[in-house]
Amino acid sequence: MNGNVEVVVIGGGYGGVTAANSLARRDGVSVTVVNPRPEFVERIRLHQRVTGSDDATEDFGKVMGGNVPLVVDTATRIDAAERQVSLAGGGTVSYDYLVYAVGSGAADPGVPGAAEFAYWVSDLEGAERLRSALDAAPATAPVTVVGAGPTGLETAAELADAHSPGSA
Ligand SMILES: Cc1cc2nc3c(=O)[nH]c(=O)nc-3n(C[C@H](O)[C@H](O)[C@H](O)COP(=O)(O)OP(=O)(O)OC[C@H]3O[C@@H](n4cnc5c(N)ncnc54)[C@H](O)[C@@H]3O)c2cc1C
Repeated sequence: MNGNVEVVVIGGGYGGVTAANSLARRDGVSVTVVNPRPEFVERIRLHQRVTGSDDATEDFGKVMGGNVPLVVDTATRIDAAERQVSLAGGGTVSYDYLVYAVGSGAADPGVPGAAEFAYWVSDLEGAERLRSALDAAPATAPVTVVGAGPTGLETAAELADAHSPGSA
């Protein structure tokens, strides 16, 4: 490979970190990861953030190679012609190759009332909001989980576990 190839990875989740670590092992390749927060968020543990049984974060230093710089910012625009990513903080990063690994979010509910009254657990902020709402509610308040995919099932089980007799 001639010269240094610059790779920018947008999103420091499982996909982005795995791609960055793998690419950074190649000679002549420099990899930069852009992620909105300085901690790695464990998507599969966000339901545990709701009850506090796990904070669902990890130091990037424990999951990402030391030769991969992290830019803490949010990508707002990709200019493919200029090979440049604009960041919410006002800066830009240039690339030869781009990996777009921003994960998935909660589906647009399309159900009247859901946007105003429901909580989602698909990102750290959503999990925190649900945690605050549950903390403010009586311990006996009924909670309805809508959706029985991995997020719904894990959240239901986590909440049931946290409120079962004998739990801390
Ligand atoms: C309850 C549950 C259990 C699961 N269990 C398993 C399991 O046992 N095994 C398994 O293989 N998978 C499991 N999964 C699936 C797994 O969580 C996903 O496949 C994985 O998180 C996808 O990784 P990702 O990197 O694509 O996205 P994510 O992990 O969601 O990471 C995306 C990253 O991109 C960042 N980002 C978003 N927008 C921007 C932007 N504009 N600029 C910069 N950064 C941005 C986000 O902040 C985040 O850090 C589970 C999922 C759930 C919900």
